[in-house]
Order: sequence, then structure tokens, then C-alpha cells
Amino acid sequence: VERTLSIIKPDATKRNLTGKINAKFEDAGLRIIAQKRIQLTKAQAGQFYAVHAERPFYDELCEFMASAPVVVQVLEGEGAIAKNREVMGATNPADAAPGTVRAEFAESVGENSVHGSDAPETAAVEIAYFFSGLELV
Ligand code: ATP
Ligand code: MG
Repeated sequence: VERTLSIIKPDATKRNLTGKINAKFEDAGLRIIAQKRIQLTKAQAGQFYAVHAERPFYDELCEFMASAPVVVQVLEGEGAIAKNREVMGATNPADAAPGTVRAEFAESVGENSVHGSDAPETAAVEIAYFFSGLELV
């Protein structure tokens, strides 16, 4: 069974949307097998998003991710990576399909409510960044 790393971002935790977003994951058949609310430092956000270090929005993205607590979680299910990205919707909420998390909740292309791993290799690295094996149940 596949696992993916999900983050409910500061714009969503600030608006108390964790439960509504989790309901969409669970309704899609994704199981939340680990979850915690944490406050990232800008440096920790920067390390997590290191692949985007050369992008023009990198500094803004790191500031945003450290601006309020996030909920990090591991989702498990058949094809969890693709299924989660389907539930999330397109990066830019203007392009996100109706009913997706970003269509309903995202405020902008940057403050877009959720993160989801994009491949098995990145999922493994991202899960290990936040969780030990003992925490995945
Ligand atoms: P995520 O990696 O967060 O799941 P994604 O895979 O849909 O989102 P990426 O291209 O990996 O999108 O970008 C990572 C994050 O950087 C986006 O979710 C968004 O918060 C931010 N971002 C992406 N493009 C822009 C942009 N043009 N302006 C501002 N922020 C952006
Ligand atoms: Mg991405």
C-alpha cells in the first residue's frame, strides 16, 4: 500500500480548516496513519522545500510555511500519491477542479492550503523528514 506526505498549510490551519480537509482525504479512501501539528522555523521550511531553492517564490514560500502552525500527516491507500494530488487540485486555485481542496479553500497560488508529495521517492524522503517509522500506524 502506498504512502504520501501531506501538509495542511498555515493559511488553512489559521482558518480552522483541518477537519474539513481531512474529511476530503478520508472520503477519497485515504487513511491518516500519522498526524501532528507543528510550528516550522523558516530554516526547516527551507530545507523541506530545498528543491525549489532557485525559484523566484522560494523566500516567500519559506516565510509563509513558517508563519503559523502546520499539520503534517501521512496518508495511506492504493495509489495514495496520485489520489491525494487529485483531492488537492491544481497548484493554482484558479485552475483547480471543482470540489478539490484548493478550489474550495486555497487563497492564492502560494497560499494554497495543502502540500502533497509528487512521487514515491519524494514521499519517502518527506515522510522521513517529519516522522519515525514507529509513528506510522
Ligand atoms: P506542493 O509541492 O506544495 O504540494 P505543488 O506540487 O502543486 O504543491 P510546486 O510546483 O511543487 O506545487 O510548488 C510548491 C509550492 O510553492 C506550491 O504549493 C505553492 O505554495 C508555491 N508556489 C508554486 N508556484 C508559485 C508561484 N508562482 N508563486 C508563489 N508561490 C508558488
Ligand atoms: Mg510539489
